[in-house]
Amino acid sequence: MNVPTVGVLALQGAFREHLNIFDSLGVNTRGVRTSADLAGLDALAIPGGESTTMSRLAADLGVLEPVADVVRSGLPTLGTCAGMIMLADEVIDGRSDQQSFGGLQIAVRRNAFGRQSESFEAQVSMPVLGEPAFPGVFIRAPWVEQASESVEVWGQVERPEGSRIVAVRQGPVVATAFHPELADDDRVHRKFLSLI
Ligand code: GLN
Repeated sequence: MNVPTVGVLALQGAFREHLNIFDSLGVNTRGVRTSADLAGLDALAIPGGESTTMSRLAADLGVLEPVADVVRSGLPTLGTCAGMIMLADEVIDGRSDQQSFGGLQIAVRRNAFGRQSESFEAQVSMPVLGEPAFPGVFIRAPWVEQASESVEVWGQVERPEGSRIVAVRQGPVVATAFHPELADDDRVHRKFLSLI
């Protein structure tokens, strides 16, 4: 196949870091700000940031429906942290006016890990990536509270409050509650590209 083109939603948040990692993996990359930027993409990434802001900007710039459409039509899509929230069919503790693209049959709890651990690093057990565990950077991260049967659990983290699901895959859609774009480890991005 020709070199694939990966779009990264570039409204706000850590989109540059995703572009840098995809660049380093040898694919073509494009920042996505308008619906025209979605044309011809082989995959899409939605970065971490702030889902309420991303939702508002996506609505203002007219990309809410177009992105929802490409995800629903099967474009391989990676969402990280706020990106996971934007892909979730259900958001618990969201702001009443925030909207998601949806497409991933999970319920996520926003800002789930609570005050003491708003930001932390933890090893995420991800058998699909092999050993070692993935160094997860969590910043006011969500967790997956419910997932439909067609969702594969790809990663879990052990916290004082118990084991939490923090990485999932449903068909061509992958989402992590942590920020692989901020880790010194490109295995999540490489695994995602292998789904294209
Ligand atoms: N708490 C943020 C939100 O609700 C997500 C944080 C992040 O992406 N680091 O969107």
